[in-house]
Amino acid sequence: MEPIQQLELGIGIIIVLVFIWLLLKGKKERRREFTEAEKQAILERQRGTDGIIRCAMCGDTDYKYFQFHHKIPFCEGGETCVDNGAGCCAKCHDIFTRARNGKE
Ligand SMILES: [Zn+2]
Repeated sequence: MEPIQQLELGIGIIIVLVFIWLLLKGKKERRREFTEAEKQAILERQRGTDGIIRCAMCGDTDYKYFQFHHKIPFCEGGETCVDNGAGCCAKCHDIFTRARNGKE
């Protein structure tokens, strides 16, 4: 093999390794916490026609204390986004979490 071919092969291998590293890094840095903007959008979606924001499960209206729940669990690949989020009271979030055997 010519030295120039060896160099090209080396560069090719480095590019592939960097690509794999970027893929793995991207997976590790999945965001779990909902942003304030996402929380607001989720709460707005749960606002009833009467203008009151309610818990997605029990209808509790004390939304200032709501927790934000992943409908598809984060650990099962559920995204942290408005569509996959639900605002619920601490009691219901606890029930959800227990139902999933400790998975969030
Ligand atoms: Zn509730």
